[in-house]
Amino acid sequence: MKIICIGRNYLEHAKELNNPVPEKPIFFMKPDTALVQNNDPVYYPEHSNDMHYEAEIVLKICKNGNHISEKFAQHYYNEIGIGIDFTARDVQLDCKKKGLPWEIAKAFDQSAPISKFIIKSTLDNLRNINFSLKINGEEKQNGNTHDMIFSFDEIIAYTSKFITLKEGDLIFTGTPAGVGPTVINDHFEAYIEGEKLLDFIVKKSTC
Ligand code: MG
Repeated sequence: MKIICIGRNYLEHAKELNNPVPEKPIFFMKPDTALVQNNDPVYYPEHSNDMHYEAEIVLKICKNGNHISEKFAQHYYNEIGIGIDFTARDVQLDCKKKGLPWEIAKAFDQSAPISKFIIKSTLDNLRNINFSLKINGEEKQNGNTHDMIFSFDEIIAYTSKFITLKEGDLIFTGTPAGVGPTVINDHFEAYIEGEKLLDFIVKKSTC
């Protein structure tokens, strides 16, 4: 499976990083080795001193497809969860400056902890999903899918023009404002509509 991540999909977040607002979805990928599941701990990467959290709604693809039209995109995902797009911000800034690709900043091992998933039909309106992130009990991010620049369906239509989506693939749909650094021993709790779905600790690397 693969993980597709959308960048700069919330206006306030694009602004906080001084990025232009995109005219088309921007995406990058993480390998399956980035995944952390079952609330397992995340080990702080040794190659960064400034790992940032980005809480994001995650779609799980349920059917293979390419060149999916926006009209039919809703049939290609059935479950929704929340995940953290961990980003080595110091490394990313260096990559951006040098015009280099972002993999070492975004796709490293354990850079994508994800929650359990809920069936999308249990949510009233996919364009009005509240989600939030607490660290050590303090709310750090609070978003609503109403504020996405590109909807779930637009993201699926766009990305599937280039890359075939397969059952089990995940799409991180972008983060709202409020991103920031994490440190060892931080306790992450992430919620969709007030329900805690993700709960893990950041630990010191043992390597
Ligand atoms: Mg992100």
